[in-house]
Amino acid sequence: MSTIKTIKALKDGGVKEPRVIIMGAGMSGILMGINLLKAGLTNFSIYEKRSTIGGTWRENTYPGIACDIPSYFYTYSFEPNPHWTRRFPPGSEIQAYFERVFEKYQLASYTTFNEEITNTQHKDGQWHVETASGKTDTADFIVAATGVLHKINEPKFEGIENFEGDVFHTARWNHDVELSGKRIGVIGGGSTGTQMIDPLSKVAKKLTLFQRTPQWIFPIPDKAYSKLWIRSVKRFPVLGKSLYRLYKFMQERTVGVATVKPGWNRSILNKLCEWNLNHVKDPVLRAKLTPNYEPGCKRLVMSTSFYPAIQKPNVDLVTEGIDKIEAKGIRTKDGVLHELDLIVQATGFDGFAFMRPMTMQGTNNTTLSEAWESGPRAFRAITIPNFPNFFMLNGPNSPIGNYSLIAIAETQSSYIMKCIQKYMEGVFDYIEPKQEAVDDFYKTVHEALPGTIWTTGCQSWYLDDNGVPLLWPWSPQRYAKEMSQPDFNNYHLKKA
Ligand code: NAP
Repeated sequence: MSTIKTIKALKDGGVKEPRVIIMGAGMSGILMGINLLKAGLTNFSIYEKRSTIGGTWRENTYPGIACDIPSYFYTYSFEPNPHWTRRFPPGSEIQAYFERVFEKYQLASYTTFNEEITNTQHKDGQWHVETASGKTDTADFIVAATGVLHKINEPKFEGIENFEGDVFHTARWNHDVELSGKRIGVIGGGSTGTQMIDPLSKVAKKLTLFQRTPQWIFPIPDKAYSKLWIRSVKRFPVLGKSLYRLYKFMQERTVGVATVKPGWNRSILNKLCEWNLNHVKDPVLRAKLTPNYEPGCKRLVMSTSFYPAIQKPNVDLVTEGIDKIEAKGIRTKDGVLHELDLIVQATGFDGFAFMRPMTMQGTNNTTLSEAWESGPRAFRAITIPNFPNFFMLNGPNSPIGNYSLIAIAETQSSYIMKCIQKYMEGVFDYIEPKQEAVDDFYKTVHEALPGTIWTTGCQSWYLDDNGVPLLWPWSPQRYAKEMSQPDFNNYHLKKA
């Protein structure tokens, strides 16, 4: 019998259901809520720090925002979206999709908005949470669905407070600021910075990209789906489902392989990126855009519009370091003042924050800061010793390098449901990974990481202070296989 059916049968048989608190109403929090509801479990609450759902896709609304995973695959496997209008889904369409799904499963009645959980503690056999407004709640299980990139990286450039124009981070886009006819400076040329160059170049009087390190750009064309196609997908849902499987297969067999082991996949990736770069005509500009590391070491940018846009007459690429920010603009280290009306900080995120700044205390007085003193660690990306009945979605070392976070969250959420099933069957009251299991897991991870592309010599948000990536060093398929059934030998299973 499936997990869902077994849990339903247990509940119908009178077994008391656990109370679950989900932190965050983004993609993975919504998913967890749906899985609980499908199993007939209704004793749960989703706490969301902001006033609406959507996580990343609510926060990031910059011009040109889109996902670099094909739309039909950036979808819950059980909830196809026939409305996608492009191969790479625009942020607003993704947000609308999550809103529709949230509505369809009537998750609003389980969600408390504008309540940020600031502290959580395991005491007297339960999790106790406190929110910023002073609200308290208790639960048997906690699922942290807090996202990977929610804490922004906003470097304090000297003199930034003196700038007379507008300045904001890409994840805090101020839509009241007029862009048309402005002199716009974008600091940072990662996935976000590169993605906005084309749309901004169409409206700015002058656009300057302040780039510290160039990115490799993989030339997959985005394309609009025709009205006929969209109507067909609506009429024949099998089309959307087939495309999910096709794009998943392609993602796993191409970038999924190239990132984790050397071979022909990686060589083709390299050649295509080099071929793409050669479309930049001016050799000086091309040299400035040429990375000194392997494609994929930093997350690969998927675009066919960036190189044409950066060559436009109203667009400048500045590779000289930023000295300071002055009233009129950015002064680079060569002494040149680049006069600007707007500065956009496309400087990324802290990929190591996870559920922090929230504070946590598990059993044996273990705090999260202590547990993660040497960096975030979780057994197979989801559980932490001394934090019983606590699970993470898309936690440390999840296989997130150029793969759909939705597919990973689905694997993890199903695993959590299997643990909840065992709890309801009375196998345990508390589950937490054995320290030896975590140590063994990290031993194999660290042995495998040197073969991956992320360790081939670049700086990125994947890496810790010692240059070790917080990623899954094998294929996403291996993750799905290893997570298909919990191996309870890796856990301490305790009774109350
Ligand atoms: P990012 O990849 O970390 O890029 C940040 C950029 O800011 C880098 O170019 C970095 O330069 C620069 N930077 C940071 N601090 C700086 C400083 N003090 N001075 C000058 N430059 C500085 O961040 P992101 O572009 O926001 O992307 C983060 C992740 O979000 C991506 O890897 C991807 O997973 C996701 N994302 C996806 C999409 C998509 O699906 N299309 C779009 C946007 C984001 P260095 O490289 O020299 O450090």
